[in-house]
Amino acid sequence: MTDLATFVAAATEFLDAHRARRPETAADFVWGEGDDFVGIVEEGDPATELAGVRLAQEWAATRFDAGFGWIDGPRELGGAGLPTAFARAYRGLEARYELPDLSIFTIGLGMVAPTVAAHARPEIAERFLPSLYRGDTIACQLFSEPGAGSDLASLSCRAERDGDDWVLNGQKVWTSNAHHAHLGEVICRSDPDGAKHQGMTAFLVDMSVPGIEVRPLRQMTGGAGFNEVFFTDARVPDTYRLGEIGAGWGVALTTLMNERASIGSGMGLARGPGPFERLIALARVTGADNDPIARDHLARLYIDHKVLGYTTRRAVANMAAAGLPGPEMSVLKLAGTRHLIDIADYAARALGPKLTADTGEWGTFAWTKLVCGVPGARLGGGTDEINRSIIGERVLGLPREPRP
Ligand SMILES: Cc1cc2nc3c(=O)[nH]c(=O)nc-3n(C[C@H](O)[C@H](O)[C@H](O)COP(=O)(O)OP(=O)(O)OC[C@H]3O[C@@H](n4cnc5c(N)ncnc54)[C@H](O)[C@@H]3O)c2cc1C
Repeated sequence: MTDLATFVAAATEFLDAHRARRPETAADFVWGEGDDFVGIVEEGDPATELAGVRLAQEWAATRFDAGFGWIDGPRELGGAGLPTAFARAYRGLEARYELPDLSIFTIGLGMVAPTVAAHARPEIAERFLPSLYRGDTIACQLFSEPGAGSDLASLSCRAERDGDDWVLNGQKVWTSNAHHAHLGEVICRSDPDGAKHQGMTAFLVDMSVPGIEVRPLRQMTGGAGFNEVFFTDARVPDTYRLGEIGAGWGVALTTLMNERASIGSGMGLARGPGPFERLIALARVTGADNDPIARDHLARLYIDHKVLGYTTRRAVANMAAAGLPGPEMSVLKLAGTRHLIDIADYAARALGPKLTADTGEWGTFAWTKLVCGVPGARLGGGTDEINRSIIGERVLGLPREPRP
């Protein structure tokens, strides 16, 4: 096996050959440069997103074919067969380069792939895992329903056995990227008379089968990144079942733990011009960096930014040691969301009316995406209140919240 230093040298050579390096620090970030806030908040701009998805898929395929797409995956499935520490090192390295927006893969790779690896039949895992990592398959998470969000176990979308198939009927909602997805992970009620947490079964579902209708939901950012999904007699083969019949709740927990880990760990590790770097650039352009009160505020945001980065590294290291994401990911998700909200608040106050009028001046109206998108970050991947309950009960050992 190759050692880490040799691997990093090979990865750097590969990245240098294919991508430009991005500015490392706020000081290097030049005002007027770079894209907007794509990938940071739920977006979905119909005019540009399809081209963006194709660019993301091209990069995922190039990376996979060069051996850097599934570094800790088994060799027989197209992975590089290296330890997870190598995959982490590559992610840190890749973040220093200009890349297309890769958020289209967050759900497929961060949530669905680990669930497939843990719960799918071997032949199904062999079919889908390589294509998920190569970016050929885009996946979505079909959990939430109009009557089931935080209390996911009250879901009512039905799955009824019919020979070698299951027949799905019902509605899901807030399904990010369902309009691009080839594959869905869906949790359904298979035993309506069973106990609440025991009567559910999980499946992979081919999003192109008859009986699945995807309808976009328009957001206040102007985009339409998530959808309602309707199932009407949609058929799923039993081979696509994840886990045992009636064991869907355990499968959902695998996905949800990975969801929190993937959202949490994505919040503090980003390099280059993230929202914080843009905020500093904004302060320079508006002259706020010479105002003592604004400087005090910026200093506090800088400290939060740094603490979030260190907390992320600690949580990722704990997760690597334990092999599983733990409840500390809820701390990370809450802290990351809080930091984004503080940045958006500061920018909104600094820009005033320029935030609401698209005057063509670079770096002003673009902030509306973040300002209007961050409230969604308080809900997706577990709401602030639910994460606080997890921290209270599972990190601090406080008495359990009263349950109905
Ligand atoms: C950007 C974004 C992307 C999303 N993507 C997906 C996706 O791809 N797939 C998917 O399945 N879902 C997705 N969701 C849905 C998300 O999982 C739900 O919004 C979330 O679980 C909350 O459910 P809800 O919206 O029904 O709110 P509810 O659960 O109805 O909550 C309403 C309010 O009550 C509070 N509350 C509820 N229960 C408790 C409690 N026990 N204690 C204290 N307070 C409580 C909540 O914190 C919240 O403030 C997404 C949501 C967003 C915002």
